[in-house]
Amino acid sequence: MAFEFTEEQEMFRESVREFCERRIVPLGLTLEETKEIPQEIKKGMAELGLLACTASPDYGGSGLNAVSAGVIAEELGRADPTGSIPVFYLVQASWGFLLNKYGTEEAKKEIFPKVISGDWFLGIATTEADAGSDVVGTSMTIKKASDGFIVNGEKMYISGVREAATGGGGHVTIAHQTPKQGSRGMTVFYFPLTAEGVTPTYISDLGREGISCGGFTADDVKIPSHYIIGEENRGFHIIHEGYEFARALIAVICASSGLKSLENGMNYIKERKVFGTAIGKFEEINFRLAEHYTRLCALRDMGYKALWLIDKEQEGKASRFEVSKAVAMAKMFASDWACNAINDVMQWQGAFGYSKECVDQAAWRAVRSFALAEGSREIMKMIVARELLGKDFIAYK
Ligand SMILES: Cc1cc2nc3c(=O)[nH]c(=O)nc-3n(C[C@H](O)[C@H](O)[C@H](O)COP(=O)(O)OP(=O)(O)OC[C@H]3O[C@@H](n4cnc5c(N)ncnc54)[C@H](O)[C@@H]3O)c2cc1C
Repeated sequence: MAFEFTEEQEMFRESVREFCERRIVPLGLTLEETKEIPQEIKKGMAELGLLACTASPDYGGSGLNAVSAGVIAEELGRADPTGSIPVFYLVQASWGFLLNKYGTEEAKKEIFPKVISGDWFLGIATTEADAGSDVVGTSMTIKKASDGFIVNGEKMYISGVREAATGGGGHVTIAHQTPKQGSRGMTVFYFPLTAEGVTPTYISDLGREGISCGGFTADDVKIPSHYIIGEENRGFHIIHEGYEFARALIAVICASSGLKSLENGMNYIKERKVFGTAIGKFEEINFRLAEHYTRLCALRDMGYKALWLIDKEQEGKASRFEVSKAVAMAKMFASDWACNAINDVMQWQGAFGYSKECVDQAAWRAVRSFALAEGSREIMKMIVARELLGKDFIAYK
């Protein structure tokens, strides 16, 4: 087994890290106040080829594989304690991967150049007020019309709604096309948030405030046929490849955000003296450090293993099942392990750790979202159990 990045990936990491240190780290927690990622940061990321980095060079993309996309995710997870830029990045890399693999030429030529340049946003919108984990419970419908498709329904808890509704772009979406066929009647498509008949809504999240969260209603929204992604009525299967890409990146982001927080904690516990002793000497503290560090390094490895398997699958050398299981294993405890580590770093910093000035509390709020976003911890358990025991052991079937 090779536990190595290629020389090219290492060099790429260095240039991403240099960008992060120069442009993102100085932002500190400002994104929590401005509630948006500055356009010059998006443009800087675009210049480095980080946006929708999985899109093929045919459409202006960097054509990165999953492991290389993970390298960017890791560096962004370290650099932005608010978690906003990692989220902005990861959805576009993951759903760009799906669009690149299954989208039509016409759609890719239209959408990718604008996303890759940082002008448009590309997100994912499957969740509804009454259907999150249960994608088949979706109420949104898509119907064939004489010259395209008509979409009706409502999505909720969607990242990047303001970015797409005001700046341009849209979301990869799923809806029932043949409702009586259940999961075999769902279709995936690109849904532009600037289309006529779309009304955006907004909600306020606990963290990652530099990227918006909200929803939208679609009232007889007309979309062209070339926005359909993959085969009609096959969407339920197709969409999981996008989720899996995103989940593996999330595992890496949780690991790097947690490890960055532990670095902050280490600096603190080496300096802070209580009862005349640096608190880093107390085993109650340094044993916890050792445990968190070990867990987060394991998480990082699991995240990269999942990404590596995604790459193998594209070469026909790994099965869907292997990928699903490895991804779910990597994401299952990603948020919990990172949150637990960051929570202890906050505790080590005493009262300061509970203040809004402490960067770690923002990181905690950000990684907490990943116990839900792109598939909850419980759903990850369900997937692993299903792969171990077989489909007959899914309780609701
Ligand atoms: C910050 C944030 C950003 C998000 N961004 C997006 C986005 O951009 N696009 C998008 O489409 N969605 C997004 N989501 C939504 C996210 O994908 C859903 O929250 C998630 O899929 C869970 O769906 P739900 O919230 O409807 O919970 P439900 O599906 O209603 O589940 C409720 C609870 O029950 C648990 N549960 C469900 N089934 C089982 C089971 N079989 N056994 C045990 N427990 C179970 C769940 O894990 C959860 O804890 C975002 C969520 C958050 C918090």
